[in-house]
Amino acid sequence: MKFSELGLSPKVLAAVEAVGYDTPTPIQEQAIPHVLARRDVLGIAQTGTGKTAGFVLPMLTTLERGRARARMPRTLILEPTRELAAQVEESFNSYGANHKLTVALLIGGVSFVDQLKKLDRGADVLIATPGRLLDHFERGNLLMNGVEILVIDEADRMLDMGFIPDIERICKLLPFTRQTLFFSATMPPEIKRLADAFLSNAVRVEA
Ligand code: AMP
Repeated sequence: MKFSELGLSPKVLAAVEAVGYDTPTPIQEQAIPHVLARRDVLGIAQTGTGKTAGFVLPMLTTLERGRARARMPRTLILEPTRELAAQVEESFNSYGANHKLTVALLIGGVSFVDQLKKLDRGADVLIATPGRLLDHFERGNLLMNGVEILVIDEADRMLDMGFIPDIERICKLLPFTRQTLFFSATMPPEIKRLADAFLSNAVRVEA
């Protein structure tokens, strides 16, 4: 299978070529067409399988189709740790090199000021840890009514770190009609229950 057979946009394919990927990984091959079809996805995949591109590449293609409502973020990617969030931001910037999208990285341990400036200027994409995202929301720094795609990444680590109540709160702040992509390395019963709660009629893919 080639990247060009998956339905990705020319701008995204050009970025994939620039980063030097030859063929899609199994999780990319399986997930990308469903994400493009705007289905909810339950992905069982570990870090290292290429799952980040599996959601970022089709997300970029989808973002080309619509338009932002007045400076409101259109996608939200939740990560359990600052390090993972920063890595995903880096990946997003290289895969999105041909897109004029603004990304705000909302993580703890750094000052609110720079993050707030980014939000004020209007960010298309939020990559966040749950606690800092809610802090910004409570301070009135952001509205999430325009979010079209939510990614809950590393759900089993979110569970271990006690972030599930935060994620439940965040989900209530997002439009009901959003698309949700849920990734976990493992699928114990607790994660299965959460997936059922957060996803609607999801396709299951496995690395
Ligand atoms: P991830 O699982 O998303 O953390 O990605 C793991 C690593 O695989 C990253 O260093 C990516 O740059 C790399 N990668 C992702 N997709 C591909 C691909 N299709 N071909 C080669 N390397 C890839």
